[in-house]
Amino acid sequence: MPVIERTVDKSSDIYKLRHSLAHVMAQAVQKLHPGVKLGFGPPIDDGFYYDFLFPEGVSITDDDLKAIQKEMQRIVKEDQPFVQEELGFEAAVARLEEMGEPHKVEYCRELHEQKGFETIGFYTNGPFVDMCEGPHVENVRQIKPDCFKLHSLAGAYWRGDERNVQLTRIYAWAFEDKKTLKAHEQNVIQARKNDHRLLGTKLGIYHIAEEVGKGLPLWLPNGGAVRKELEKLAYEFEFADGYRFVSTPEITREGLYYTSGHLPLYQHSMFPPMEIHEEGEAAVGDGAGEDVAAGGGDGAAESGAGAGREGGRGGGVERYYLKPMNCPHHHLIYRAEKRSYRDLPFRISEYGKCYRFERAGTLQGLTRVRGMCMNDAHIYVTPEQLKDEFKAVMDLHKRYYAIFGFENYFLRLSKWDPDDPTKGEKYVDDPAGWDYTERVVQEALEEMGLEYTVEKGEAAFYGPKVDYEFRTVTGREFTATTNQLDFAVPSRFGLVYTDRDGEEKTPYCIHRAPLGTHERFIAILIEHYGGAFPTWLAPVQVRVIPVSEKVVDYAKKVEKLLRGKLVRAEVDDSNNTMGKKIRSGTTEKIPVLLVVGEEEAGENTVTVRRYGIEEQRTMPLERFEGELVEEIRERRDVRRG
Ligand SMILES: [Zn+2]
Ligand SMILES: [Zn+2]
Repeated sequence: MPVIERTVDKSSDIYKLRHSLAHVMAQAVQKLHPGVKLGFGPPIDDGFYYDFLFPEGVSITDDDLKAIQKEMQRIVKEDQPFVQEELGFEAAVARLEEMGEPHKVEYCRELHEQKGFETIGFYTNGPFVDMCEGPHVENVRQIKPDCFKLHSLAGAYWRGDERNVQLTRIYAWAFEDKKTLKAHEQNVIQARKNDHRLLGTKLGIYHIAEEVGKGLPLWLPNGGAVRKELEKLAYEFEFADGYRFVSTPEITREGLYYTSGHLPLYQHSMFPPMEIHEEGEAAVGDGAGEDVAAGGGDGAAESGAGAGREGGRGGGVERYYLKPMNCPHHHLIYRAEKRSYRDLPFRISEYGKCYRFERAGTLQGLTRVRGMCMNDAHIYVTPEQLKDEFKAVMDLHKRYYAIFGFENYFLRLSKWDPDDPTKGEKYVDDPAGWDYTERVVQEALEEMGLEYTVEKGEAAFYGPKVDYEFRTVTGREFTATTNQLDFAVPSRFGLVYTDRDGEEKTPYCIHRAPLGTHERFIAILIEHYGGAFPTWLAPVQVRVIPVSEKVVDYAKKVEKLLRGKLVRAEVDDSNNTMGKKIRSGTTEKIPVLLVVGEEEAGENTVTVRRYGIEEQRTMPLERFEGELVEEIRERRDVRRG
């Protein structure tokens, strides 16, 4: 069974190494900065970190990191075995208080009171003691002094809660040997160069304007071109797979979000409501309100501002929200007409705009935004169709990702947690429903031979889901898209279809977004390609470079011919030298530069220079055009072959 084991193997050498190094770092920091207090210090994917509370007035710089690293390198040459002891809860608290570690005392109490720990483990190496479960290397001498590097500082709230004190987190990389460490460092440097925030600006993809607001990107023409290509890709593939296309408004009356359950549960992630006063009539609320409005006429409207009270009978004020998701609207589209089993699977798709109120401090380039456009669709199916349709959606993901050449992603199946005491608030309470849907999803994954991990307690409120996780070169993981099975919401919305037997039944709903949101997906693509998009996706696909004034007309003729075939071609008729024009085309990572001189103009040919390929070729214009159009139509990435 192709399940990837991703839980950290605590007995592995690399885990022990990183974990031991965290102790060594804390020991070094305590020595160099007496009075420092400790937070947590776990191993992570590419090393480890430790959180510290430095004494008042002490702030740490990059120079301090070098000094700490040096001290660590000295420590690992000493003879310091890790010695374990187990203390009873009371003795453990007394020990931690004596050590002057308030955060550790708090965590120790939590282990005892909430998790039932009767004894608490401690490890001592040299002068350093830490509350810890291990395991470690036997002696710090086993650690190579050149296998780790302290690389950055960050602020981190104690327990990740912004109401708590802010600690200083020191991050380090650690690998089995110097060579692996160096290779990782190179990857990180490359990844920083590919950072979508850097390239996104350099390549004219997007812009964040203070006047528009945080997390609300403006898409520049080059970004607009990439969006259009993704929408075209989605349209073609979805069309072939039997989807139909819908469109929904971006603001909606609040009642819909009570039906969907977004209010009040999800309110913290929604923009605050707009209060709308309908002129000339009162609220279009419930039936009673409309009656009052009908009778009230203009008079009612004039007093409306004063009379408008929340939920007041006939009050003129109503709340509208920016939509945080497209699902509720799509459910209403399903419900707008009578459906029979013949209409199912009913697949509706929309690149829908959504708005979510993310905290300002968490916003980041295109990966965390407040306004987004989602490659959304909802598929309503009968129980018999459920598995095949789920597989069809997974297959769609696969076909998309093959085009992009994504390999560094994995799947995560999230299930509910029937043993969670707070499950009533987190999940629909329907054990049989969970059993059935989780089995269907798991079977779908197995039958398609896909690798996946299982996460208990990570399901959506309404059903299991499969997340597509991407890992960047630096080891950062994030969810790009998600594929969810919903067995609860359709009944909340009263969605039904008439089955063969004439009975009304409730469909299942699949929520899917293989291309995620434009924002997040394009951020991934920029970093994935390092800004050098394949021809089909590139904002400018062809730049024609006339070698002299005399051939500008020919260059324009080439441009016109290509644009007529929907190729994004343009002429560089600036006064720059040819060398400079070629260099700037390369800097902008344009896939095809066409150099044309008198010879080309005379023979109706072009000289083709492809991005990242040394060799240039001269060929008949007609042949070039045919080949290029074919390459774009097939969405081929010539660099991958
Ligand atoms: Zn430890
Ligand atoms: Zn949905």
